[in-house]
Amino acid sequence: MIEFYHVYKQYIKNQFAISDISISIEKGEFIFLTGASGAGKSTFLKMIYKEEVPSRGQILINSMNLNLLPDNKLYKLRRDIGIVFQDFKLLENRTIYENVAIPLIARNEKKAIVDKMVINALTLVGLTHRRNYFPTHVSGGEQQRVAIARAIVGNPKIIIADEPTGNLDTELSINIIKIFERININGITVLIATHDNNILKLFPKRILRLDKGMLVSDIGIGGIS
Ligand code: ADP
Repeated sequence: MIEFYHVYKQYIKNQFAISDISISIEKGEFIFLTGASGAGKSTFLKMIYKEEVPSRGQILINSMNLNLLPDNKLYKLRRDIGIVFQDFKLLENRTIYENVAIPLIARNEKKAIVDKMVINALTLVGLTHRRNYFPTHVSGGEQQRVAIARAIVGNPKIIIADEPTGNLDTELSINIIKIFERININGITVLIATHDNNILKLFPKRILRLDKGMLVSDIGIGGIS
């Protein structure tokens, strides 16, 4: 569960990137976060995994108050959150298999467990047949699927994606959102920032709209208008 209580973020004095946002997102919800460039979407997402901290207000993730979470306990938060970036952030000199395995190797999982979990994640995104390829040898849509596999491989409770379809055409974008729907069926909370209105129309979900840092609407399944 994700809870914001009167959250503000200022990078620069007197300018609010996020302004007085209070919101509650239940386990297993599928949320689109939308708004123009500069509206505060990335800042909103970064505060959930404590890449940025609020200037005022409180954020609770699965009842963990992030203001009270010391840096040496950050791993407790991050192991519950999978993050997908628009530019994929894949390691070019590692195979697709190795890229997906990174979060598991970082937490010292045994080789047999790594193998099982990586293959599960690659199966979910339909890429087991590409596991020995290098990222530069597959298409942009496939690279994004590798990034999604890497985000889900550790069984997180929340998946966060910042403009995951920003570099893809409409058909590939639809395929990517369908993968997030499959992930969501397993009870994982999915939170996707997008300014793609086509996607918002095609997939009826709860939509949080930001404008100049303010939450100006919250509509759709589970939301209020
Ligand atoms: P979006 O993701 O919707 O494009 P952002 O969260 O990136 O919006 O940005 C919201 C506002 O905060 C913008 O005005 C942006 O310029 C500002 N901002 C974002 N990151 C920083 C930063 N590191 N330093 C200063 N200002 C920032």
